[in-house]
Amino acid sequence: MALSPMMQQYFKIKQQHPDHILFYRLGDFYEMFFEDAKIASKELELTLTGRDCGLEERAPMCGVPYHSCEAYIARLIKKGYKVAICEQLEDPATAKGVVKRDVIRVVTPGTITELGMLQEDSNNYIACIYCHEEGYGVCFADISTGEIHATELREEADLKLRNELGKFVPSEIIFNTGFLSKKEMGSFIAQRIGCLAEVTDDNTYDYAAACSVILKHFQKGGLQDLGLQDKPLVCCALGGLLDYLHQTQLRSLEGLTGLDVYSESEYMNLDIIARRNLEIVETMREKERKGTLLWVLDKTKTAMGKRLLRSYVEKPLINPTVIHKRLNAVEELVDNSIYLQELTECLSGIFDMERLITRIVYSSATPREVKSLQAACERLPALKALTSQGKAVYLREVDRELDELQDIRDLIASSILDEPAANLKEGGVICKGYCQELDELTELVTNTKGYIASIEAQEREKTGIKNLRIGYNRVFGYYLEVTNSFKDLVPDTYIRKQTLTNCERYITQELKELEGKVLSARERAIALESTLYEEIKEKIAAQLARVQSSASAIAKLDVYCSLAQTAVLNNYCRPDVNLSGTIEIQEGRHPVIEAIQMDLPFVSNDTKLNQEDQQIVIITGPNMAGKSTYMRQTALIVMMAQMGSFVPAKYASIGVVDGIYTRVGASDDLTSGQSTFMVEMTEVAHILQSATKRSLLILDEIGRGTSTYDGMSIARAVLEYIANKVGAKTLFATHYHEITDMENDFACVKNYNVAVRRKGRDITFLRRIVPGATDDSYGIYVSKLAGIPDGVIRRAYEILDQLESGTGQVESKSNRRPQDLSGQMMLVQSDDSELARRVKEVDLNTLTPIQAMNLLNELKQLV
Ligand code: ADP
Ligand code: MG
Repeated sequence: MALSPMMQQYFKIKQQHPDHILFYRLGDFYEMFFEDAKIASKELELTLTGRDCGLEERAPMCGVPYHSCEAYIARLIKKGYKVAICEQLEDPATAKGVVKRDVIRVVTPGTITELGMLQEDSNNYIACIYCHEEGYGVCFADISTGEIHATELREEADLKLRNELGKFVPSEIIFNTGFLSKKEMGSFIAQRIGCLAEVTDDNTYDYAAACSVILKHFQKGGLQDLGLQDKPLVCCALGGLLDYLHQTQLRSLEGLTGLDVYSESEYMNLDIIARRNLEIVETMREKERKGTLLWVLDKTKTAMGKRLLRSYVEKPLINPTVIHKRLNAVEELVDNSIYLQELTECLSGIFDMERLITRIVYSSATPREVKSLQAACERLPALKALTSQGKAVYLREVDRELDELQDIRDLIASSILDEPAANLKEGGVICKGYCQELDELTELVTNTKGYIASIEAQEREKTGIKNLRIGYNRVFGYYLEVTNSFKDLVPDTYIRKQTLTNCERYITQELKELEGKVLSARERAIALESTLYEEIKEKIAAQLARVQSSASAIAKLDVYCSLAQTAVLNNYCRPDVNLSGTIEIQEGRHPVIEAIQMDLPFVSNDTKLNQEDQQIVIITGPNMAGKSTYMRQTALIVMMAQMGSFVPAKYASIGVVDGIYTRVGASDDLTSGQSTFMVEMTEVAHILQSATKRSLLILDEIGRGTSTYDGMSIARAVLEYIANKVGAKTLFATHYHEITDMENDFACVKNYNVAVRRKGRDITFLRRIVPGATDDSYGIYVSKLAGIPDGVIRRAYEILDQLESGTGQVESKSNRRPQDLSGQMMLVQSDDSELARRVKEVDLNTLTPIQAMNLLNELKQLV
């Protein structure tokens, strides 16, 4: 048996895409065969059928309708597959032999442009890493918006690469073979980023080849025009990336214009742990947006604004001058509430021009999407009238960049119907009056009914057949139908085509001619609409830069408005951002907790950190008192200030920090399979290596995951190291009260505690941070609050008493295995003994050392 010609074609194409699921277009379906079919039927829950292919066994097959393929592709991509889309390149109706087909695009997680498959509020980056002995060249591209961010990482490159990956969170990573030796980076990507990561052809990273690809792509004469002259590693990475994109997209990438060559030192250092701990864009446990800093700040009205705000939150700045410019823009809007409201209203509902123009440039935009661009443009004149009133430097910039795009709006308005057909197969996209030829063809098609009616009348007249009628069927087109009773009146010029029970059907020369004209007019009209539509898209695409500029202006304006809106609503203040090295916050609040706990009043607190007497602040206090909240609040306020936002405080003066490092809470790292303590120590090690004098450290209960003495020793040694060597501003919460005596030995250390009001064994949380150390964790009290049974609580107090009585020993209390208790322990155990009574009476919190000695003496006597 021989393979059918179609299957031969299939195999030829599949051979070039062994690692992709091949969507092979067959009429109105995309079909998958063999292994692809088995995978797809399982992953997409499709029925697996078979198709005769000329082999003995039928080919396993499954398929999806072409018009709903997006959802299926999206699901496969999510599951880590790549999909190659193979189209029919000629009309099956007119094709001779097997219809010509080829792959027009490979869809991968990082190369999606379909709006329905993308998340509107975040970028979708593909990363390319070029690993070299001197460091890394890295770029992150979002094809859907046309932006590329690229940087070179040389010193401490591994560490920095992790931070950059944590910042951009790409959905796909490609790299050269050199990167394969970086085993640790590999597992970091697998565990923390969790995206498709693949090695690609090393030749594409070759410097000379890369440079020429880059210059050709950006149409520049030299690397200096792109700021790449001294960035060879970036060039290699960019070359590898562009090549991969060409190979998968199989189309020009002219939408990819925004090259931003940055240095990671322009931004605050935030590693993936700090991002996670501070819950900047997603919460730690549920991975949700609600409950994050972004959630509090986001009052944006457009998808473009949402994405930009997210990138502001992910990339706080460190240059006070730039930060001030952002703050000035926000402040102008805060101070001018009517203006702010007008702008916000005008921004509401402007479609995602940034991604729409990309779709148009790649010629994949549907007529409805093009129409959405027009709708967006309709809003621009009103917006421009408003932006022209802005005064702050960055508002002026928005006004300069905002183009009203009247030509584009007019073009679309005059060429595309208000409610165009979903696709061009049936026509119905182009407006009347846009093209004379099309109008004529349409006229012919729509007038057919009239022609037919007149021919019908004319033939009835001529022949005298009263009930002659003209019908249409697909087999032989238009026909004249004559019932049997009038058969005799049929003239010779009629050609009989079909005989039915009570009538006969004929055709005539005239009818045939009309039919030819009408049918071809219809086809020609559809073809012409298609051509016109392509031309319209090209005309719009030629204005790419102007549309992108407007989109970027809208995004920025939306972000400033959002920040202003939040500042007004939540009663934030403008921070003073400077290079002083001091952080001073008066009446600061936690932006997220105050927003979530709307019903409870949030107690504000001051923060003061400097490089002299308050470099390290040790915070003690019971569990649940508010230590962690206070420390995070400080970190978040600093972050907000450095991204150019107002902050939840009465007053804030923020000496910019170069990075925020955190070790917060007992975040069990279940996924990585490491023990909590190991994770904790790895994180602490990383902090001690990376932090500088200008950093802010948030250390929350270090040393918890091991025995008390171990833990306390480590905690103290870490603090001493920070005091002596690192010099970073540090907030340090601990339950090891013993550490608070460091205040006596180190001028830079200050003790604070979270105040509680105590009454016997009950306490009330006051949530106030006050100077001085505390001496009790109230752990058992907090356990009681948490609902631990009374019996357990009573017993815990007993044990605590025993421990605090100074022997450091505890007797077990078991009713199953009585132990041989002897000597002193017996005495202590019996509840009514004199010894036990004395010990219980002691209030350790008020006991002075002398009293303790006396007590010990007394107890010894008793024994
Ligand atoms: P700790 O770290 O001391 O154990 P947390 O910082 O986790 O305590 O705070 C426990 C809870 O107390 C928080 O979830 C919050 O609901 C509440 N809380 C903390 N600080 C404040 C505050 N300043 N005002 C109001 N409620 C607070
Ligand atoms: Mg805590």
